[in-house]
Amino acid sequence: MPPHHSRLSSAGRLAEFPLIEDLAGRFGATGRSVLIGIGDDAAILRPPSGDLFLLTTDLLAEGVHFDLTTATFEAIGYKAAVANLSDIAAMGGIPRYLLVSLAIPSGHTQAEIRRLYRGMISAGRPHRVELIGGDTSSSRQGLFINLTLAGTAKPDHILTRGGARVGDLLYVTGTLGDSLAGLQLLTGAQGRPVRAGTSLSKEARRYLVERHLQPTPRLAVGQLLAKHRLATSAIDLSDGLSGDLTHICKQSRVGAEVDMLTLPLSPACLDYAEAYRKNPFELALAGGEDYELLITVSPKNKTKVERLARSFGCRLSRIGRIRSRKRGLTVIGPDGSSHKLAITSYRHFEATSSVR
Ligand code: ADP
Ligand code: MG
Repeated sequence: MPPHHSRLSSAGRLAEFPLIEDLAGRFGATGRSVLIGIGDDAAILRPPSGDLFLLTTDLLAEGVHFDLTTATFEAIGYKAAVANLSDIAAMGGIPRYLLVSLAIPSGHTQAEIRRLYRGMISAGRPHRVELIGGDTSSSRQGLFINLTLAGTAKPDHILTRGGARVGDLLYVTGTLGDSLAGLQLLTGAQGRPVRAGTSLSKEARRYLVERHLQPTPRLAVGQLLAKHRLATSAIDLSDGLSGDLTHICKQSRVGAEVDMLTLPLSPACLDYAEAYRKNPFELALAGGEDYELLITVSPKNKTKVERLARSFGCRLSRIGRIRSRKRGLTVIGPDGSSHKLAITSYRHFEATSSVR
């Protein structure tokens, strides 16, 4: 990029090169597979021989994906990294190299940008992700954060959205809807408690908010499923179950049936639903940003996959099955009746969607 584009205003409080140097010094340490990280025109990597690269990128725009009035820089950085880590988890890969590009409006300080990186790096640290570069620009309006994460995987240890077969069982890790409940609590969108004076316990509230701000990318589970070839397809739940299941069905050219009553709910989410008169199953179907894995499993691997999850201490719930494409996507309600699954999860460029 020409320097007049990439350079941040020198009159502002931030200057591009001292900022990059500061970030490189604090967060840019790399191991042996990175021959050159931050500092040259491009990074140079030597991935483990025979491995394939998995590349994923996410663009976060202020006002669309995050709001600086409700979230801290650390929290934004952390979640930005989790979104990418979770994509690598859903493919069964090992996350390795991170590139971060920023467009920063005037008025932000170096300390704030540092906090953003602290959040990103702390999400990647348990997985030994290395920061190897990025780009920095000024912005006329709003903060933009783009992360690119490269992961690696053995060629025969990869999960995709496209392998689900009719008859496969549908499973999900963890619990659903917590993140949406946490978001509603953070933004005041939960409404009034059903009975005045009764409200959610502090612990339940803290749990839900934390699930929203600090979700866990399911990397180890994704890698194990891929290694033992126990899933025919996988996706991470970033938009919400109803939308993300649709992606699996499209890519695999199948339909699916979800048993509403089997959707895994945390005790905190159930308390929240009761306190604020929400349908917890609706929260589970619509809620985005849980970053759990949705997988399909051949019936012959049912015992194996359940045993694997147990040995691993990871909750894994069977929530339905894969049907033929012509049967579409359906949900079986509490009364046993079957309905078309409405996509209630988040979609961009649409005036209204979802319960958020
Ligand atoms: P170029 O002009 O070739 O784009 P830059 O001066 O933008 O080079 O970048 C110099 C080095 O700093 C490169 O290694 C680049 O990857 C890294 N870098 C730039 N911005 C960031 C950032 N926001 N985070 C991490 N690394 C960055
Ligand atoms: Mg640059």
